[in-house]
Amino acid sequence: MSKFAITGGARGIGLALRDLLISEGYDVLTIDLSEGDVSADLSNIDGRKKAVDAIKKWAPKGLKGYIPCAGLPPVAKPIEKIPSVNFFSAVETIECLRDLLSMDAGSALLVTSNSAPMLSHDDPFVLGCLAGDEAKAVAQIRSIADGHIAYVGSKRALAMWMRQNVVTYAKLGIRLNAIAPGITQTGLTKQVYNDPKLGQAMRDFEKSVPAGGATTPDKIASVMHFLLGESAQFIYGAVFFVDGGSDAMLRPEHF
Ligand code: NAD
Repeated sequence: MSKFAITGGARGIGLALRDLLISEGYDVLTIDLSEGDVSADLSNIDGRKKAVDAIKKWAPKGLKGYIPCAGLPPVAKPIEKIPSVNFFSAVETIECLRDLLSMDAGSALLVTSNSAPMLSHDDPFVLGCLAGDEAKAVAQIRSIADGHIAYVGSKRALAMWMRQNVVTYAKLGIRLNAIAPGITQTGLTKQVYNDPKLGQAMRDFEKSVPAGGATTPDKIASVMHFLLGESAQFIYGAVFFVDGGSDAMLRPEHF
């Protein structure tokens, strides 16, 4: 039976995907802060090693899918945890799981955001993440001290890293793709709504969603399920917006 490992699988979108895969009979391992099958803090190197070791032990014959879904919102404190979890933990763990993914012709599905294009591809913080020096990127975001840039920049860098690595991974028999959810009703979104600075902006944005508002985690999980499955075998390097039309509304000239 195919095996899938999901970080951030104890709540929100990751949990919805876990439940969907399990309902179809797949084996799923979740990694999360204190809940889930494996407890690991992915903001640091020890936690990432613990997660990777646990996945390797659990799936010695290969992984069909790896979904680094754990993420922190723009209001998370301290700010440097945002790039550490949202970008560096995802990239580092994928790199460590290449062999397992290759064994089962698997795929890694990264979780970016429909907000990612709000920061330019050549923004210094985005480039700082992509340079791969976590200590430097963390120092950079500490001095910028802007949670929105930390979140959007780390998600932009994640989507770009995925696109930049599609060819290398394809040669190993691994598909890389990303999903870019719009506003989804989860604990992460609740934290932003409760923020005195970003809460109102988020509520205004929700009102503007062409589909009529926020969605629920199962609507994101069903598309992730498709991207991980047999029907998506020729999809490589896609950034799949599941956002009720927000990206098309904001950037109609891009596709
Ligand atoms: P959520 O808060 O419900 O779930 C996130 C999970 O990540 C939680 O279970 C949390 O414990 C885990 N996590 C956080 N920090 C961690 C750490 N250091 N180590 C291990 N686990 C950690 O949020 P969600 O909305 O389901 O978010 C899932 C992903 O979707 C995130 O990457 C998020 O950025 C992305 N996303 C969410 C939205 C949205 O509107 N909710 C929109 C776009 C993208």
